[in-house]
This record gives sequence, structure tokens and C-alpha cells, in this order.
Amino acid sequence: MEKNIQVIFHNCGLRSYIEVDLCAECPRQDDKGCCGYYSPVFYPTDLGYLYLNQPDLLEHIFSLEHLTVLDASVTVNNVIDGDSYRCKFHRKEGGCFLSQSSRESICRHFVCSGIGWWEEESIQDWRIFFDKLTDYEIEINNHWAELLKEQGLTLREPAQRERIFMELGKMYQEETSKAADFINSMPAKECRTLNRTLRFGSDWQL
Ligand code: SF4
Ligand code: SF4
Repeated sequence: MEKNIQVIFHNCGLRSYIEVDLCAECPRQDDKGCCGYYSPVFYPTDLGYLYLNQPDLLEHIFSLEHLTVLDASVTVNNVIDGDSYRCKFHRKEGGCFLSQSSRESICRHFVCSGIGWWEEESIQDWRIFFDKLTDYEIEINNHWAELLKEQGLTLREPAQRERIFMELGKMYQEETSKAADFINSMPAKECRTLNRTLRFGSDWQL
């Protein structure tokens, strides 16, 4: 079955994301799609953004069970569900209940191989953008983790978390006050259409 798929690229700097209309009727047909195989990891840029924009969600994340808390990141581990897993932010009806900008970077950028938009010659500008953005985020996250370490701060110590969130909020505000050139050079939003042959269930590649 042939299908036209709309891929919408949103350039929001460090909160950029990719939206795909097919996800609402995911060919995996298991009510989970790619989210059945992932546990989101929130890094310093995510924590700084959430502190400034959604402090309730930040509090909620750290109140969940079975977290993996490292010095500068927190993983919200998924739970076993049938023959795969379920992310704690996923609902059978409606999918992820986090807004796009509240998600961590893999969740904002990931698109399955079945769609494989990055293989299209006409979309190489966005492939380059998201490759650069990924490297940029990793560099900032590593740098901020190092700054926290120099101050003797670690998320493993619950009493230090509020101070860490405040520090990361300040760093986030400072970093986003000036956008990098590669961010300024792309439009805020652009839609591209692809045609793909759909396969269903486990035949649809994640
Ligand atoms: S597997 Fe593909 S179509 Fe399904 S939810 Fe994930 S990105 Fe969307
Ligand atoms: S946070 Fe949302 S997008 Fe990410 S794995 Fe969980 S349900 Fe999917």
C-alpha cells in the first residue's frame, strides 16, 4: 500500500522537533510504535528548559519510580508491557502525553527507518540541520555537566536538585539568548511530503 506521508520540521533551536502525520496511525499497529522500545533520558538542556517552562513536569519526573539518576541526567525507565515495553509517558489512547517541546532530544528528533526521511535527496538540508543540532546539544550537555561537577553538584543527591535546576535554568537562558548560525539559517517550520510503501506489524522497520 502506497502512502503520502507529511514530515514537518520545526526549528525551535534547542527544542526543535520533527512531526510525522503517520504516527497517529502507526503501521506497527501495537498502540506503541517506536515508543515501546525506549526510555527517555533528560539531559542538562532538557532540565534547564523544564525548570523555566514546566517546573511541575520536572517535579513529576523526579517523583517517578525506577529512575536511573546519574550526576547530570535522569532516565525514566520504561515498564514491561506485553512482548515489548511501555514508556511511562505513553498512553494507549493518544500516544505521548508530553508536548513536543517537553520531550528529550531523541523523542523530539526520532523518526523510524520505515519512513527514513533522511534518505531523500531533497531533504538533505534538514538532515544536515538535525545532525548539527545533535552535535551542538551533546557539546552543551557535556559542558554543563562539567560545570556542575566543578561546583560539586550532582543529581544523585536529592538535596542538591533544586540548586542544580536553578543553575541549569540560568545556563539555558544565557545559551538561548543568541542562536547559532546554523539555527538562524533555516526556516521556523517546513513541511515535506514523502511517498512510502507501508508494511504492517513487525514488518514495519523501527
Ligand atoms: S514507528 Fe514510525 S510511524 Fe510509528 S510512531 Fe514511531 S516514528 Fe511514527
Ligand atoms: S517520552 Fe513520549 S515520545 Fe518519548 S518514548 Fe516516551 S511516549 Fe515516546
